[in-house]
This record gives sequence, C-alpha cells and structure tokens, in this order.
Amino acid sequence: MKKKIVILGSTGSIGKSTLEVIKKDKKNFDVILLTANNNYKKLIQQAKQFKAKNVLIKNEKFFSRVKNSLKKTKVYSGEISLKKIISGKLDYTMSAIVGVAGLQPTLDAIKISKTVAIANKESIICGWEILSKFIKRYKTKILPVDSEHFSIMELTKNSTDNEIEEIIITASGGPFLNMKKSKLNNIKPRQAINHPNWKMGKKISIDSANLMNKVFEVIEACKIFKFSKKKYKVMIHPQSYVHSIIRFRNGLVKMILHNTDMKIPISNTLYGSKNNLFNVKHLDAKILNKLSFQNVDSNFFPSIKLIEKSLNSGILAPTIVNASNEVLVGLFLRGKIGFLDIVRTINKIFRDKDFKKYARRKPESIKDIKMIDNWARLKTIAMCVR
Ligand code: NDP
Repeated sequence: MKKKIVILGSTGSIGKSTLEVIKKDKKNFDVILLTANNNYKKLIQQAKQFKAKNVLIKNEKFFSRVKNSLKKTKVYSGEISLKKIISGKLDYTMSAIVGVAGLQPTLDAIKISKTVAIANKESIICGWEILSKFIKRYKTKILPVDSEHFSIMELTKNSTDNEIEEIIITASGGPFLNMKKSKLNNIKPRQAINHPNWKMGKKISIDSANLMNKVFEVIEACKIFKFSKKKYKVMIHPQSYVHSIIRFRNGLVKMILHNTDMKIPISNTLYGSKNNLFNVKHLDAKILNKLSFQNVDSNFFPSIKLIEKSLNSGILAPTIVNASNEVLVGLFLRGKIGFLDIVRTINKIFRDKDFKKYARRKPESIKDIKMIDNWARLKTIAMCVR
C-alpha cells in the first residue's frame, strides 16, 4: 500500500528536502497535498512532478494561475482547514511551514494523520498545550525533525529524567562566531542569512546567526520531552556534526553525529530503522579529530539569556518572544532595523507593563494564542517606530 503523505510548506527548504527524499521512492507514496504561501511556480512544478492530488496556495492572488496550470490536481487557496480538503487518514504529514502560521495547519494535521513530523518549531513553542491534547485524543505519533530534537529523541528512548544529568544542544554559532562584537552593529541581511553549515530558509538562518534559534530549540525540547528544564545547556560546536549530547548519571555520554543534511533526520522520520537513503554522505571518522566545543559567551550572544526568561515567565511568554522575533526578523530583512535590535527589542517587551498579564494567561484554544501573538506583534512594531 502506498503511504498517503502531505507536505505543509513544500516549497521551503525542509519541504523541498522531504520531496527529494521521496523522489527516490515515488512508487510508494501518494502525495495527497502540497502547500505554499506565494511561490506558486514551484508549487505547480512540484504538483506535476509528484502527481499531487491537491495543492493549497495560501495567497489567493495566485489561485487562478495555479488552477489554470494544473488540470489533474484540485486547487485550493486562502485559510482553509485540511479536513475540507482531505478525507480519510493520512500516513504521514511533514509540518514545514515557517512561523506561527504553521500552528493551525499542524493542529489540523494531527487530527487526520497517523504520524506528524514537525519541523515547524513555532507551533510547538506557541501551541504545545493545545496540540498535546489532540495528540492524545487522536493517538497521533509526533516526530521532531529538528536535528537536535531528533537526536535527543533517539538518545533518550526509554530513559527517565532521573537517569539523565545533562542534555546539551549544540549550536554552530552561525556566520559571526569569530567576529568582533563591535562589527555586529553593521551586519547586512545577506551576511546574516549566509549560514556556514546549513542551507535553510531566511528566517531560521537569521535565528541561527544570533542564536535565537537555540532559545526556541530549548523551549521546544522542554515542551516535547519530559525532562527537567534545568538539564538543558547550549554549547557552541562550529562543525555542526554533533546535534545533541546526553550525559547520563551512570557515567555514559551519548551523542549522535551526522552530516549537515536535513534529509537525514527527515528520511528517518519517514522510514524509521528501515531507512535506506541512497547516496547519503556518511561522515568520515577522521572528522572526529576536528570537532570542537565551547561555552556560549552570553556577552556576544545575549539571546541566550532569553531561554530562562522565556521558560519562567508564564505559558505564553514563548508565544510573545516568538511573535516579536518574527516581526523583528522581517524588519531586519527589509533593512528597517539593525541586527542587534532583534534581541534588544525582545528584551524590551519583557519590561512592558502588560507583559506579565498576557504571558501568564492559560490558553484554551488557538484563538487565545493568536490574540497574544497579535498583541506582541503590535507592541513590537510600536517599539520599533518610536
Ligand atoms: P522556508 O522559509 O524555506 O519555507 C517555509 C515554507 O512555508 C514555504 O513553503 C513557504 O511558502 C511556507 N509559508 C511561509 N509563510 C507561510 C504562511 N504565512 N502560510 C502558509 N505557508 C507559509 O523555511 P524552512 O524550510 O527553512 O523552515 C520551515 C520550518 O522548519 C521552520 O519552522 C524552521 O524553524 C524549521 N526548521 C528548518 C530547518 C532547515 O534546515 N531549514 C531545520 C530545522 C527546523 P512560500 O515558498 O510560498 O513562501
């Protein structure tokens, strides 16, 4: 039987890598739905190549262009629930939309998929309290795609919190690791998206350059794994071959190494131990001679202090930090603010008079999360135009 698969955000970096993985095994997959926001040309090309049953182009402006180009595929646009497009159960959904825009589609996917692989960390950071209720109700299997979380999951299978001393999430340090701090004032967007080890979308590349990505990754790990928050630590590992390190109380230290290719965790979420990736480039053991690790300098990367602040300021504090960061990354990419203003402004929002009131609310629905997300976006914009 063919596996019924959906890729949310198929035109992005993770979406394209997922299609790359299944391209080698097309006969075993039925592509039920591919989605994009604006990139209608790529979506049309993917739909034809993979004989997709349905496509969803979020931006309604492009609906007729997609519709006119695809005769054998049903075309949808706008905000539409996956349930209206898909009947029956899916085997696998890849959730790879960027930003909190991925939250509602991820929730929809949880209701209709046996397995949901989640790359869209923002939906976990902002919506885990809601998502986890539906994961239980629908008995959906959730697999993290982020290489750090995928490796923590693999390394801690069957381990209890008691058995674990420390969980280290590695960070490459991004393109500016060895730069003088004074130079960070004049960083241009094209420098910040130029990640030394990974080819990723713009948003996550900026988050990697100032380590906001690690803030989100630690929060994500605290939500999906049941280990104590205090056990997480971030370390710089410029080569990015080790994705996480677990120190166990029995004296053993375990880690997973693999090449900097997201197709590796992606294909593992698709195939599990039966993974048979063709042409995967294995690491040369000699690479072990070149691995280095260092502590994070919080003076150079002040974002790192936001981990504790975000985790200890209320359930919705991560939603506020995420929304503010999404706005600020957008402003930075458009040349409206400087690179250092991103973390500076997020820190400011913690000092806002309404922050505590909103951060401590208990969300009952996605609508509640969206309300706080919206407040944080407006507040952030107001702070930047002052
Ligand atoms: P990209 O920016 O490359 O792709 C994002 C995808 O989401 C595109 O298909 C895009 O469509 C779609 N999209 C963007 N905005 C919206 C919206 N408002 N509504 C619906 N769809 C939208 O991102 P990445 O692939 O790099 O990242 C995706 C997610 O995976 C992020 O959450 C990221 O943090 C996470 N992740 C990424 C990794 C990587 O290596 N790239 C590694 C680990 C996690 P369009 O092309 O039309 O704009």
